[in-house]
Amino acid sequence: MGGSRRQKNKHVAAPAFGALLDASPDALLAVSSEGTIKLANAAAARLFGYTRDELIGSNHWLLLSEGFRNETVHLREHLRAQPGEPLPPREVYGLHRDGTEFPAEMAGSLLDDGALQLLLVSVRSTGHRREADADLREAMSLLTATLESTADGILVISSTGKVAGLNDQFLKMWGIPPEHMDAASEDPAMSVVLSQVNDPEAFLARIAEVTDNPAAESHDVVDLADGRTFERYSRPQKVGNRIVGRVWSFRDVTPRREAQEQAQQAMRDLAAQAEQLRTLAFQDPLTGLANRAVFNEALAGALLEPRLKSVDVLLIDLDDFKEVNDVLGHQAGDDMLVEVARRLRGCTPTADVVARLGGDEFVVLLTACPDVEATAACIVRCLNVPVWIEGTMLRPSLSLGLASIGKEALVPSELLREADIAMYAAKAAGKNRFLRFHPDMMTALVQRTELEAALQLAVARGEISVDLQPIVSPRMGRVVKFEALARWDRDGSRIPPSVFIPMAERSGLINEIGTEVMAQGLTRVAAWLSEDPSRSLSVNVSGVQLQAPDFDERVLQLAEASGVAAYQLVLEVTESVFFDADCHVIGQLGSLRKAGAKVALDDFGTGYSSLGRLQDLPVDIVKIDKTFVSMVRTGSERLPILSSMINMAHSLGLTVTAEGIETREQANYLIRLECDSLQGYLFSHPEPGHRFEHALTNARQALDTLAGP
Ligand code: C2E
Ligand code: CA
Ligand code: CA
Repeated sequence: MGGSRRQKNKHVAAPAFGALLDASPDALLAVSSEGTIKLANAAAARLFGYTRDELIGSNHWLLLSEGFRNETVHLREHLRAQPGEPLPPREVYGLHRDGTEFPAEMAGSLLDDGALQLLLVSVRSTGHRREADADLREAMSLLTATLESTADGILVISSTGKVAGLNDQFLKMWGIPPEHMDAASEDPAMSVVLSQVNDPEAFLARIAEVTDNPAAESHDVVDLADGRTFERYSRPQKVGNRIVGRVWSFRDVTPRREAQEQAQQAMRDLAAQAEQLRTLAFQDPLTGLANRAVFNEALAGALLEPRLKSVDVLLIDLDDFKEVNDVLGHQAGDDMLVEVARRLRGCTPTADVVARLGGDEFVVLLTACPDVEATAACIVRCLNVPVWIEGTMLRPSLSLGLASIGKEALVPSELLREADIAMYAAKAAGKNRFLRFHPDMMTALVQRTELEAALQLAVARGEISVDLQPIVSPRMGRVVKFEALARWDRDGSRIPPSVFIPMAERSGLINEIGTEVMAQGLTRVAAWLSEDPSRSLSVNVSGVQLQAPDFDERVLQLAEASGVAAYQLVLEVTESVFFDADCHVIGQLGSLRKAGAKVALDDFGTGYSSLGRLQDLPVDIVKIDKTFVSMVRTGSERLPILSSMINMAHSLGLTVTAEGIETREQANYLIRLECDSLQGYLFSHPEPGHRFEHALTNARQALDTLAGP
């Protein structure tokens, strides 16, 4: 050292030794082996607050705070023992003249000036540095506290790939046992992480990518197998401009994502609901056709449109749909409606609107249709094609009313009403057809309404009477039964039962009429019945009557009042009564049967029911409908349907009556099939009460000619 200084001194004028000492920024003191200060520079005087004169000659302990006073002794000993190895500066506390203590660094060397052995001590206050250290410590603790209190999991990896730091949250988030991080390798911790992420490959790829590119920042989302979602953020860790590692932070955003998803789902639900409400407002849910509201609006719109040459409304009502519902159930009914809707749409591809108005009623709106009658005919034809529903073949049939306007403007409700009237006319004309509205139909409608009003008074006015038709037993060769049939004579003309019976059923009047028919019939044949207990009277009973809870009692009372035993009574019902939901229908018939009355299944074979159902019904007699009898023409044809009906009924212990026998061929055919009873014009037409004997004679005569050769 001294050598180098001398070399420099060649160029610079050597200052005086004292001046040199005073120029030193560090305090310099020369201390004797006894501890006396022999020399002090200006910096020393400044640092400790004494004058140089005060210092020189004083013990240097004066300048060191207690506890550090031996430092100079240690220093001297060390320098003596190992002169070639200077000690690094030692930390001490200096003592200012004013009594304050201050941190300082102390270094020293021995000045060998003969025997004295002066220790040259340099002292530098480190107070400024301590402050900086304290700041650093505070910053560090703040950082640590922040790290530990943040919800993010943080991992710091050094440039050499070692874990340089992490917080507890990081371990908690990933469920990594802390000992995994203390281990020599990070592999176990990494495998814990990888085992949880949905896509480990992508997870690793991102790490590799940023590791290759130390300055890169990255941000991605990591989905975990347990359903959580982490946001992963990575940025380089820098000291100044130098990259020393990489900070990875993970944030659990699952609640945020779930909230977002919930919000999105809620939005979707809301949209779907709105959509559903919209379609519900305009659509028939069962068939997907438009609804009444849509039709009304479209019709009103069409009538306001001056350029339209024609507007046609086709009102459609299925025939006997109630029966499908009653017999086959509501599901079958629904299936049928859906199929009808499908066919309707197929027939009317150019229709403005095809709507279901409700129940089994549909409507089609056509504008500018070149041939609406052809379209109507097509609908009737297409709908009548058989369809299989719930294992039963059905032929949907419909009545269609057509109303159109050309140039003359009309109120929309009028057009629909006209179509409605035409539709009723089509029904009255025999169903399965279409009719165009004609003003005469209005008259018919008015008449119909009048008729309905008149029917209300028919019983009271004595307009209802009974015709009796004999039923013969070929085996016994005689009349065994009469069927009572209602008649209504109004103002000298006879209204057919096919008109007034359905009317009476709709209004409930059938209860009154049924009772009247039964009473008249019983009165008329009571005497004849009393002659032979095997004779009986048959009366028709509609489903509506069976709904009355006291029907059974009333029937038995009526029989008793006319002196007729219950077992001489037969109640004819059609099979649809068995499918009307409530079971007290069955109960009513059951109690009547218990009392001895018999139940006949009328019009057998015309309904939707199969032969197989027969065994489940509480009946004693089946009446084969005249449509089957009319199949017999020459008497030599093979009609397996007739023979199987009869055999089936017999095997179930039922007796069989064939209705509508008009010819000898038919009678003989049925006799060959061992049919128990026969009824029809061949034997006698239904006759009014005063011609009772006449009917009996006719029937006997007809039977006799059959018995002949
Ligand atoms: P239904 O019970 O099937 O009655 C038999 C129908 O066939 C009667 O018609 C009868 O006149 C007719 N008929 C009898 N023999 C022959 C024949 O050889 N050839 C043809 N073509 N027809 C024949 P009607 O009297 O017009 O009665 C029609 C329907 O009205 C009855 O059919 C029945 O369902 C109903 N009805 C009649 N009277 C009553 C009643 O008092 N109460 C109820 N609920 N319905 C009744
Ligand atoms: Ca009958
Ligand atoms: Ca019948």
